[in-house]
Amino acid sequence: MAYKNLKCFNCRVAVRVDKETKAVLCADCTNRIAGVPESLLPPAPKLTKSGKPRKKRGTAVKKVPSGKPRGWHFKICYVHKDGTVWSRGELVTDPKVAKKLKKENA
Ligand SMILES: [Zn+2]
Repeated sequence: MAYKNLKCFNCRVAVRVDKETKAVLCADCTNRIAGVPESLLPPAPKLTKSGKPRKKRGTAVKKVPSGKPRGWHFKICYVHKDGTVWSRGELVTDPKVAKKLKKENA
């Protein structure tokens, strides 16, 4: 059997085919057209690193305790469900300060 290289008529990639073949559609293009489940396709390269917390020793990413709304740690005063008072993400332990904050930011 004699072979030759023919360019895929869609993406121009060289495909080894029988020398009698007049045109070829490569496997990638065939898959694309036929509709292969995404799970079978090679994973797309990840273009962005954003949104992923980097884990470095000593600088552990602090997880926002559950139940707190988005942006709570930017608030001057945030009173959690359990009654704890937070100021800009820091727990207010002094009840006097907590009371003052609550009063001022009610
Ligand atoms: Zn192709």
